[in-house]
Amino acid sequence: MTKRSLAILPVVVLMLTACGPDAPEPTGVVIVNARVIDGSGGPSRDVNVRVVGERIATVGNFKPSADDTVVDAEGLVLAPGFIDSHSHHEDGLLEMPGALAAVSQGITTIVAGQDGSQQFPLAEFFASLETSPAAINIASYAGFGTLRGQVMGADYQRLATAEELAEMVGLLRIEMAAGALGLSSGLEYDPGSFSSTAELIELAREAAVHSGRYISHIRSEDQYFWEAIDEVITIGREARIPVRVSHIKLAMTRWWGQADRLTSKLDEARAAGVDISADIYPYRAWNAGFTWLVTLFPDRDLDRRDGAEYILNDMLSPQRILLPNYVPEPAYDGLTIAEIARIRESDPETTLMELLKADVDLGGRSPMLGFAMDEPDIESIMAWPHTVIGSDGELEGPHPRGFGAFTRFLGHYIRERNVVSLEEGIRKITSLPAEHVGIAERGSIQVGHYADLVLFDPDTVADRATPEAPHVTSIGIEKVWVNGQLVFDGGKVTGNRPGKPIRRISAQ
Ligand SMILES: [Zn+2]
Repeated sequence: MTKRSLAILPVVVLMLTACGPDAPEPTGVVIVNARVIDGSGGPSRDVNVRVVGERIATVGNFKPSADDTVVDAEGLVLAPGFIDSHSHHEDGLLEMPGALAAVSQGITTIVAGQDGSQQFPLAEFFASLETSPAAINIASYAGFGTLRGQVMGADYQRLATAEELAEMVGLLRIEMAAGALGLSSGLEYDPGSFSSTAELIELAREAAVHSGRYISHIRSEDQYFWEAIDEVITIGREARIPVRVSHIKLAMTRWWGQADRLTSKLDEARAAGVDISADIYPYRAWNAGFTWLVTLFPDRDLDRRDGAEYILNDMLSPQRILLPNYVPEPAYDGLTIAEIARIRESDPETTLMELLKADVDLGGRSPMLGFAMDEPDIESIMAWPHTVIGSDGELEGPHPRGFGAFTRFLGHYIRERNVVSLEEGIRKITSLPAEHVGIAERGSIQVGHYADLVLFDPDTVADRATPEAPHVTSIGIEKVWVNGQLVFDGGKVTGNRPGKPIRRISAQ
């Protein structure tokens, strides 16, 4: 297909006037000449879609009426707005309500409160989004780490007492009443890392009472990976709750090539009655604070050379640790441990230990990227029928996924690698995540649903964000609507802020 300039043909003649001074005019917008992929996984259809107010009013072969505004899609794909199953885009959203990072890749709803960390209390966060809305919709989990921190404060390096656990359950009940989707945990991070499985089961039971879910950044993504998967399955079985492995990955050379072992294990759990699913971000590199590596040293002792040896030999070779923004020494920005060791005329182990110490001394503010995953594993796990896509991205984060995860999925993994069909791929970023987290009336193009829509070019859609330039917008995303209003058009945010907080169905 050739260059397209999307013309909006204003056929607006009259508008209905039966709305109050603040309500939007219920003008119909009809999108014509689109290849509609409705999110169900079924084949695309050449039909028109009429949006009235914030909902989809008509889908089919009808003619626009005189008072409709007509958008000519010129053969592009019209899909439901993408649901980002694992997002950190809520961070800073009140200051950056246009959410360029998200809308420019077609995301219309984010699932926040990930990795055990949430905006607390949720009722207040949702209220602030209602008085000062963002461009995107936001659902959120309650964060185990946040609740544990509220109850245990700085004294968290131990198991919780029965009283403390009861207090956490009480807080979770309040968050669930505010509309949380369930409980998220981040067990590689403090303070969650000091919890027991029993503590998590107790809280997951409370989430289950409210028809919530349990999702986890599991206790180990490397050395004790398989045990950590077992723990999620145990929690699902014991608490009788749907569970999710967040940003699932085989992040250690030793586990590469074992994607089948992993999906078989998950399938076995499903066959035994545990509703387990996963989300994945479409990149070879993970991102964390550089000083997270300190947790891999025995006793967290940075003088333990065996800790550095373990990291560099078994987990991530010196070429695979990249420091995009090293706070103690900006001259190292964008370099790997291997490159920095050469500059310092030192060995990688010593270099790693010294750089970590310097970063700890300055408060541990440097991010890192760890190129720990292998492409064939990513593709196999991505294709598993119960895997959806999550960016794990931020509005202004150091990892390119904040701007490029969904367009990378569509461009690289679907168009170029054909990991799944376009229709199935769209399902994995629309109706399937909606079903997995319990979001109603979104995620498919059907009459009565909210009009969260994306118009994109499947032939050109691609990410452009890289570790060197992580905040570059994608190409091929032409228009994005949230609740019936355009939020992204012609490569720019429009300034409309129609996003809503999305509460768990049973809390509405
Ligand atoms: Zn995480």
